[in-house]
Amino acid sequence: EAKRRSRNTISFFTSEMTRTMMRRLEMESDLRRAIEHDELEVHYQPKVDILKGAIYGMEALVRWFHPTRGMVPPDEFIPLAEEIGMIVPIGEWVLRTACRDAMELRRQGIPMQLSVNLSMRQFREADLVERIAATISEIGLDPSFLELELTESILMTEAAQSIAALNEIKRLGVTLSIDDFGTGYSSLSYLTKLPIDILKIDRSFIQHCGHDGNSATVVSAIINLADQLGHSVVAEGVETVAQLAFLRERRCSRIQGYLVGKPVPLHTFVAQLDRWRKIAVALANPII
Ligand code: C2E
Ligand code: MG
Ligand code: MG
Ligand code: MG
Repeated sequence: EAKRRSRNTISFFTSEMTRTMMRRLEMESDLRRAIEHDELEVHYQPKVDILKGAIYGMEALVRWFHPTRGMVPPDEFIPLAEEIGMIVPIGEWVLRTACRDAMELRRQGIPMQLSVNLSMRQFREADLVERIAATISEIGLDPSFLELELTESILMTEAAQSIAALNEIKRLGVTLSIDDFGTGYSSLSYLTKLPIDILKIDRSFIQHCGHDGNSATVVSAIINLADQLGHSVVAEGVETVAQLAFLRERRCSRIQGYLVGKPVPLHTFVAQLDRWRKIAVALANPII
């Protein structure tokens, strides 16, 4: 009986594994065709200045609408895209699309700072800087309107090479930020050597800063660190008024989060803008 059961367990486990593997292989070949099949979309989340009461920018976040699986979240397909190298054409497509959209907004009289995520794998491409330069000049976007978000992992590997590449990007006139700051393991001394403009405090710290002392301490420390290094700071994932109150008290002026708005398609972004602006003004002028 025990033998039979263990055999069953093994065969069940194996078919589970097979299913997982099949799904992965399927996703992989589907992802390779996602661009040509027009399945990718860029959504935009508003960035808010809570001291000025303004919507000053937007972050481009890619979405994959799979023909049968529906929307596949980036946390699921970006790691896969990185593994199989597809992140390079996808990242390029996102940058191009987002720059075009930002130009379109400018034409409509709505200038927005645009930030685009850059993956580790893209960063290793020898011609990355040339490609970024070509894209922004082809579209005609003022490079000072563009910000590229990198994660700390980029900063840990190939130190000297990374600094050189970052300097080249900076020379284009593009702003650089470190995304998900505080979740990586980069040394703080290294941080002083980087031509970085902005630290984005990871959502995991923001989530608890309104009620948990330790998270609050970490958030305060990052704000102070950014201040001391002459960097700006953006809080990501702000969902509650308590979190907002804490950030305002700490003089953190820039936020992103569901409290103001979720990532949405460009036309929705435009349609929501008036409402978001009113929220931003209200956040800047609290009644209490
Ligand atoms: P990220 O760059 O740190 O982006 C912030 C993520 O937090 C987004 O998830 C956003 O929708 C979510 N978020 C924002 N505010 C809130 C909030 O108040 N509450 C909660 N619960 N979540 C909030 P999303 O769009 O699912 O993207 C996840 C990650 O996928 C991104 O994290 C980024 O690392 C990656 N990603 C997305 N688009 C791209 C892209 O075009 N290129 C690359 N390389 N990575 C991308
Ligand atoms: Mg980001
Ligand atoms: Mg982030
Ligand atoms: Mg992230």
